[in-house]
Amino acid sequence: MTTVLAVANQKGGVAKTTTVASLGAALAALGQRVLTVDLDPQGCLTFSLGHNPDRLEASVHEVLTADLRPQDAIVETGEGVDLLPATIDLAGAEAMLLMRPGREFTLKRALSPLLSEYDTIIIDCPPSLGVLTLNGLTAAQSVLVPLQCETLAHRGVGQLLRTVREVQQITNPDLVLLGAVPTLYDARTTHSRDVLADVSDRYDLPVLWPPIPRTVRFAEASASGATVLAGRKNKGAQAYRDLAENLAKHWAGSELVTFAPAVD
Ligand code: ADP
Ligand code: MG
Repeated sequence: MTTVLAVANQKGGVAKTTTVASLGAALAALGQRVLTVDLDPQGCLTFSLGHNPDRLEASVHEVLTADLRPQDAIVETGEGVDLLPATIDLAGAEAMLLMRPGREFTLKRALSPLLSEYDTIIIDCPPSLGVLTLNGLTAAQSVLVPLQCETLAHRGVGQLLRTVREVQQITNPDLVLLGAVPTLYDARTTHSRDVLADVSDRYDLPVLWPPIPRTVRFAEASASGATVLAGRKNKGAQAYRDLAENLAKHWAGSELVTFAPAVD
């Protein structure tokens, strides 16, 4: 059965896109057929997977607004994952979708013919809680929340969790909040660890294992258009491989391994 996973946080710069690209590549390396979906008009996922948004003929925009078949917009990437790319056109999609009945279900409907083609579909949500993110959360079975391990960085988490609960009540009762993925983690300070324990307590949100360390390689990889998994020995790449294994085992029936379990 296909797992559709949304990666969401309305805060920018928390490593959503890096998580989608790296986790996707790591799941593909485990032998899964993976589709990644860029739902951000900035097209950062598209770019980081080696495609120039300005040179694409078709994108998720036409899939959402003009009934284009997703198969006709999907491109292959050098990372072993397929990509439903985004271009800046997607910035106009929110306004177009707002006029439509059932607007939150547009992506779910569009992806449904692909469910037999992929083991995992990972959706990179934009940094907002608008119609595009609602489409991502409505199309998904589960959601991961990348969280930067800094004191004030989790201020918006309550709002995001409220949105997830609303989606569970209104458009997607089966949506499972898997937990937070700690990103930009600095193991040398106890501060990161304290922040995570606090988040997990305050929001009753499991924090998944492992934390993704801050490494300079990530910045280099995104600048050169290659994902971090290219550097095999790098700690960040290894952390995403470990996270991929944790999730794959969970989907096969095991408990998720947590770093800071939510208190009961
Ligand atoms: P978002 O999609 O949430 O806006 P990105 O994935 O684009 O976040 O990451 C924001 C920036 O942080 C990018 O420049 C990216 O290369 C960098 N980055 C992401 N993860 C790490 C990491 N573990 N260590 C260092 N830099 C990182
Ligand atoms: Mg992003």
